[in-house]
Amino acid sequence: MTSGNLPIWTMVVIGAIASVVWAEAIRDLYHVIAHRIPKLYRWHVWHHRVFRQDLTPFNDRIYRQAQWYHDLPESLVMLAFGAMLGMAIWLRSPALAWGTAAGLVYSLTFLFGAIVRGSGVSWARDITDLTHLPGPFLAPPSPWFVNRTYHWRHHFDNQNAYFCGALTWVDKLMGTALSLKGKTIAVTGASGTLGRSLLAALTAAEANVIAVSSKSEAIAIEINGETVPIKTVTWQVGNETALADLLENIDILVINHGINVHDDRTPEAIEKSYQINAFSGWRLLELFLKTVRTNTDIAKKEVWINTSEAEATPAFSPLYELSKRTLGDLITLRRLDAPCTIRKLILGPFKSNLNPIGIMSAEWVGKQIVKKAKAGDRNIIVTINPLTFVAFPLKEFFVSLYFRWFTR
Ligand SMILES: [Zn+2]
Ligand SMILES: [Zn+2]
Repeated sequence: MTSGNLPIWTMVVIGAIASVVWAEAIRDLYHVIAHRIPKLYRWHVWHHRVFRQDLTPFNDRIYRQAQWYHDLPESLVMLAFGAMLGMAIWLRSPALAWGTAAGLVYSLTFLFGAIVRGSGVSWARDITDLTHLPGPFLAPPSPWFVNRTYHWRHHFDNQNAYFCGALTWVDKLMGTALSLKGKTIAVTGASGTLGRSLLAALTAAEANVIAVSSKSEAIAIEINGETVPIKTVTWQVGNETALADLLENIDILVINHGINVHDDRTPEAIEKSYQINAFSGWRLLELFLKTVRTNTDIAKKEVWINTSEAEATPAFSPLYELSKRTLGDLITLRRLDAPCTIRKLILGPFKSNLNPIGIMSAEWVGKQIVKKAKAGDRNIIVTINPLTFVAFPLKEFFVSLYFRWFTR
């Protein structure tokens, strides 16, 4: 028997997967709305009253109350919308509709979980409330599925972000997969064209920025036609340890300094390219990773590294490509065991003092980087070259796999 052109079991499986994704979307959207509408927030806020920073509940009474006021209504909303989806599909395709029973069963497990936790059953929390279990975080926030580290940020980083409960795509679409509000962000290479535009875009996202520069003059940026001075820290490439104290106190480090020797192929040009583009960035990365110690660090600290499009495509500057690829590969290797989130910035040519013929404006690139970081991208690609969107992820995937197999 077939329904349309597909065998019936395929229709049932498609309906089942769609209904579970639907249930999660409803849960996440209900959560977003609960934070926006005061009447609903009055119920939802119980969920935010339950936990201390280490995810232990303040007391058993509040924990149980929160199940009745938040978790139970949430699962009922999932059930109601799941039933509506099933009925709507029934009219078009009964085979698909049978599959949507999976979404109802899925939602029922959350209803059951809320009831047993609310009733104070002792084992219920450990096996049904997985994103709120206390203990050391074992991994940074996960990119596709909500883990404890991911969800902790909704409670203790920013309640107006990180809304997702199981799958992260609603946050990705809404730009709430990362909140920059109130975060302290240091940007190296800050006196350059991109450095300045990044400082401006991060400031617009309500971050507190620090400019890290090898030039002695203090850095200022333009915001709404006004010149705003930025806290500037001066350092020299090769003296990365001088920044160790600074790194302790920042949430996000953006490694953005670099040099392009263009057609120079002298031993000095080789030395300079590798020291500045590859080893300096790698040394800063290692220094920063040493500052990731607590659960809060694992959840909130990040490194963004501008390895550039030269990682995957020609930049018509061989030493630039060689040194940036070295950095890119070292990052891919270190990402395998990273204690916190590491993002790569893969940027195409933009107009700057070094590259007056670049097509994209640095201001636009800076804004795109922030937008894509908020969407949770781990590899932030901003370019006009469509090949990079295919070539880079493929390269990253296979190099990462190769490193995983042959290193420990
Ligand atoms: Zn929670
Ligand atoms: Zn909430």
